[in-house]
Amino acid sequence: MMTNVKVNCVSCFKEDLDKDTIALNKKLLGKEIEHFYCMECLAEYLNTSTEELLEKIEQFKEDGCTLFK
Ligand SMILES: [Zn+2]
Repeated sequence: MMTNVKVNCVSCFKEDLDKDTIALNKKLLGKEIEHFYCMECLAEYLNTSTEELLEKIEQFKEDGCTLFK
């Protein structure tokens, strides 16, 4: 796990995405993805809202998903 690498949004270039955002990208788009979206762009990409994405994060955490720690 590359925890020290800063990840920027591929769409709006928002810098230094937090690990929950990165984990959500992996969870929803696939573990092997190389480009990541910030919450806003991910919501737009998936045709949903950031609120729903935040809810998903909480859900995945409750499920004990290993991507979210
Ligand atoms: Zn963005």
